[in-house]
Amino acid sequence: MDTAIVLFNRDLRVHDHPALAAACDRAEQVVPLFVLDPAVPQGQRHGFLLECLADLRASLRARGGDLVVRQGDVVRETMRLATELGVATVCASADVSSLARRREERFAREPIEFLRFPGVTVVPPAALLPSGGGDHYRVFTPYWRAWKRHSRRPQLPPPRRVRIPAGLAVGRLPGPDRRGAMPGGESAARERAARWLRQDLDDYAGRRDDLAGDRTSRLSPYLRFGCLSPLELACRAERSEEFVRQLCWRDFHHQVTYAFPQINRDDYRPDARRWRRDQDALQAWQAGLTGLPIVDAGMRQLLAEGWMHNRARLIVAAYLVRHLGLDWRAGARHFFQLLLDGDVADNSGNWQWVAGTGNDTRPNRPFNPLRQAARYDPTGDYVRRHVPELADLPTEHIHEPWRLPTPPPGYPPRLDGPDE
Ligand code: FAD
Repeated sequence: MDTAIVLFNRDLRVHDHPALAAACDRAEQVVPLFVLDPAVPQGQRHGFLLECLADLRASLRARGGDLVVRQGDVVRETMRLATELGVATVCASADVSSLARRREERFAREPIEFLRFPGVTVVPPAALLPSGGGDHYRVFTPYWRAWKRHSRRPQLPPPRRVRIPAGLAVGRLPGPDRRGAMPGGESAARERAARWLRQDLDDYAGRRDDLAGDRTSRLSPYLRFGCLSPLELACRAERSEEFVRQLCWRDFHHQVTYAFPQINRDDYRPDARRWRRDQDALQAWQAGLTGLPIVDAGMRQLLAEGWMHNRARLIVAAYLVRHLGLDWRAGARHFFQLLLDGDVADNSGNWQWVAGTGNDTRPNRPFNPLRQAARYDPTGDYVRRHVPELADLPTEHIHEPWRLPTPPPGYPPRLDGPDE
C-alpha cells in the first residue's frame, strides 16, 4: 500500500486507534482526514468537536503528520481527495448509527478499498451473539455475562511517526466557538481519566447515584467523540466492576442499534400507547419550569452544562413519559440537541428503556420522582445548585412541588405512586 487515507469520525485520538495503527503499519504514507459536514447542526457539541480536532491535529503534528480538514459531504470529499492523491485505500472505524451505516454502504459502492476497524466500543457490536439465536442481545444481563468472558483485542500504542504526502494542503480548522467547563480533545480526556481513576474509581459503586456529590467520571463526552479508547478505559478501570458494567451498557446499546438502526425513530418493542400532545408541558419541561424541583434541577443542569447526572436523566425522562404522558421521542430530541455526549445509541436506547418500549425486561416498574429526590438528593443540595430561586428553602421543604404562574394543562400530574 503506497498511501492510505484514515477517515476520522468519532474516534478522535491517536492512542489505541486500530484504523490509524493499521494504516501507519501497512502504508508508506498516511493521510489523516476529517470532513466537517455543514449539515451537522452547530451548538455546544460542535464547539466540543472543534476542540477535539485541534487537539488531534496537534498530536498528529507532533508525530510528523497533520490532520487534513475538508468541508462538505463526507463520502464525496474523501473520494475527491483519494482521486487527487491516487489513493486506493480508506481506513475507518466501524460505527452503528443509520447515518454511519449509510455512509459505509456508499463507500462500498465506490471504486476504492474501504477497510473498517474496531475501536468505537470495547467489544465490536456483532462479536457476541446469543446462543439461542438472533442477531443481537435483547436483554442486558446475559449480554454482560458474555461480554465479561469475551477475549479482547490487544491495545495499540500511538504511532511513532505519521508520514503524510509532501505539499498537501491541510485545510483550515475553524476556531472553537465555546468556553465550556469541559475542554474537548484527547489530551484533556486522558488527563481527566487518569485523575478520576486515581481519586474516584474506588468509591464509584457507593457514590454513583449521589446527585449533589457529583462523583461520576464525566467521561461521556470524551467517549462519545472517541477521545478515549473505551477498551483502554475498561482495562484501566478493571478493579471496579460497577464502573466497567456502565461501559458494557454503552456497548449493549451500540449492539442493539447495530441490529435496529431506526432506534431513534421507531419503538424497539412495538407499543400501542397513545402519547399526549401538549406543547406547553413540553416547553415547561425543557426550560426546567415544571414546578417539580428535582426535575427542574436536572433540566437546568442540562441547559447550563450540556451534561446531566445519570440519576437526574432517569428522573426527568420518567417524569416526561410517565407523568406528563409525552412521547419519548420529544424528550430524546431535546437531549440530543443539548448533550455534549448526545449519541444515537445511548440516548435513544436509554430513552426507550425509560419509556418501556426498549430493552427493560420489566418495562412498567414503578418510579416516583419525589421518592427519588428524597433518596438521591437527601440534603437538597443538587436542587439548590441548579434552581437558585429555591436556594434558601430548608431541607424539609426543598423537594416540595411549587406552584407555577400558569400551570400547563394536566398539571399537576399524579405523584403518589410507589417507587423502586
Ligand atoms: P459514569 O457513571 O462515569 O459512567 C462511565 C461511562 O459509562 C459513561 O461515560 C458512559 O459512556 C457509560 N454509561 C454510563 N451509564 C450508561 C448508560 N445508562 N447507557 C450507556 N452508557 C452508559 N449516555 C451517553 O453517553 N450519551 C447519551 O446521549 C445518553 N443519553 C441518555 C439519556 C437518558 C434518558 C438516560 C437515562 C441516560 C443517558 N445516557 C447517555 C447514559 C448516562 O446517563 C451517561 O452516559 C452518564 O450520565 C454520563 O456520565 P459519566 O460519564 O459521569 O458516567
